[in-house]
Amino acid sequence: MVTLKQAFSLTEGATQVTTLFTETFGYAPTAVHSAPGRVNVIGEHTDYNGGYALPMALPHRTYVAVAPRTDRLVRLISAQESGVREVSLDQVDTFDSANPVSGWPAYVVGVAWALEQAGYGPYMGLDIAVDSCVPFGAGLSSSAALECAVAAAWDTLQGGALLATDSGRAVLVNACVQAENQIAGAPTGGMDQAASLRCQAGHVIFLDCRDQTVQHLPFDLNSADLELLVVDTRAPHALVDGQYAARRQACETAASILGVALLVELPAGSYHELPAWQQLSAVQQARVRHVVTEIARTKEFASLLTEGAQTGNFDWERLGALMNASHESLRVDYEVTCPELDTMVEAARGAGALGARMTGGGFGGSAIALVHTKDVPAVTQAVTEAFAQAGFNEPHFLRAFPAEAAF
Ligand code: ADP
Ligand code: MG
Repeated sequence: MVTLKQAFSLTEGATQVTTLFTETFGYAPTAVHSAPGRVNVIGEHTDYNGGYALPMALPHRTYVAVAPRTDRLVRLISAQESGVREVSLDQVDTFDSANPVSGWPAYVVGVAWALEQAGYGPYMGLDIAVDSCVPFGAGLSSSAALECAVAAAWDTLQGGALLATDSGRAVLVNACVQAENQIAGAPTGGMDQAASLRCQAGHVIFLDCRDQTVQHLPFDLNSADLELLVVDTRAPHALVDGQYAARRQACETAASILGVALLVELPAGSYHELPAWQQLSAVQQARVRHVVTEIARTKEFASLLTEGAQTGNFDWERLGALMNASHESLRVDYEVTCPELDTMVEAARGAGALGARMTGGGFGGSAIALVHTKDVPAVTQAVTEAFAQAGFNEPHFLRAFPAEAAF
């Protein structure tokens, strides 16, 4: 048995969250907003090194139904969490586990807090109901989907000026990142929120993580009878936080030894010929090698998409090969894969995928495969069987196409 996690349709999502709102608060919401989860096609662990990422918005979204209040109170309910929570916008403070704003409400009120810090608002409180079909903690950014849906709601209540332009959306991205870092207390680089707020249907964004500029590149899987299959490995992830911090630290140390502010500044072809290269430990060299080669792969992937859009001819074989190479680099040099992720990519490739790789931070979470539509049943079957044989949790599949940003 293969388990497919279907996205809510826009109508289903809006209806469900409206019902939840009405049943909880006893009156009807004034608006519904939603924002997508994201999947990164290539460019992993490059964001904090000033590199490039290539994420797209998923059809799986988080929906919020809201009504403004006349005080600063926020009353929240989520179909994915228990009970109604109440928090005042005046109680929001930087992360501390004893804070009344701890737990999932931090992702919501943190956004208003961050926008106010940036000089927007002041905002009134909200009654808010949340429902989502973005898997939790699967590396598909349910956290960003929640923040960005809420950002859309608050901005719209103030006239919607930020949501109306890409540069305004970039302001909302920053507020969501601040909310997640400072109030929810989770490290995040900004790729997730940029994807959720700035993507376009049918396109990936080529995100320059140094200056946050984006290019929209067509990712027309449909016309080539291809699909991007997302596999939530449902691997239990332990140690993730410490490992993420350790990778960041290794990159920072290596950059300072090599005399650059960010690893993106290293010369792609000759970084290992720099005199200081020998001062790096073997592990640091491997980490740098991943970052530099991943940045090169991401740029090549982006140029192949640009070229494809111009000529009408996409080199899917090469795009798949770049995904495979990305996974190998993350497995061998960056050491952030795990048995579930490695099993998934092997099984998918064996069943005909053009390319497969882990996506997101690693140590569990999700993987993706570029698959001909006709091969999707064989690939899902092969991955499910390989997981059963290895005694892993049953994987969940999502059929992904590049969807639209928050609105
Ligand atoms: P990911 O972003 O990969 O899904 P995170 O750990 O970053 O995983 O974010 C998951 C957290 O975000 C949840 O534990 C919860 O606190 C919050 N969250 C996300 N979606 C919802 C939701 N629909 N309702 C309530 N909280 C949510
Ligand atoms: Mg997250």
